[in-house]
Amino acid sequence: MHPLFAHPFSMKWNVTVLEVAPDGFLSPACQKCQAELDIHQPQADDPNELLGTCSQCGCWHLIQVAPGGTEAWVFNLPGVDFVRETLTQARKEAARKKPGAPKGSTARSPKNRVKLGSEGHSG
Ligand SMILES: [Zn+2]
Repeated sequence: MHPLFAHPFSMKWNVTVLEVAPDGFLSPACQKCQAELDIHQPQADDPNELLGTCSQCGCWHLIQVAPGGTEAWVFNLPGVDFVRETLTQARKEAARKKPGAPKGSTARSPKNRVKLGSEGHSG
């Protein structure tokens, strides 16, 4: 079981602008691999908030149709790999800050678990 933790981080959203033709927009491309996205409408009564998933690389994108319906914005959704990278980085930093780490200890021992968020002030 993983404990619940709070850890602040910043994320970058990439936005692509799509022009919307009267008959709708063409399937937008994945921001990561350029494959055509599969479009889903999570809310039955709101066709202006869509989800674009990539069957090639698994990325998810939020698609928001602008008021007036002449354009739409595609936002990448920071996914599992983003969280994984961020946590790896945070754990490395926490391990570096920790005083008195046992010398010569092999990495990845379960005893060396890092508590995130316990000393959460930095720069
Ligand atoms: Zn993709």
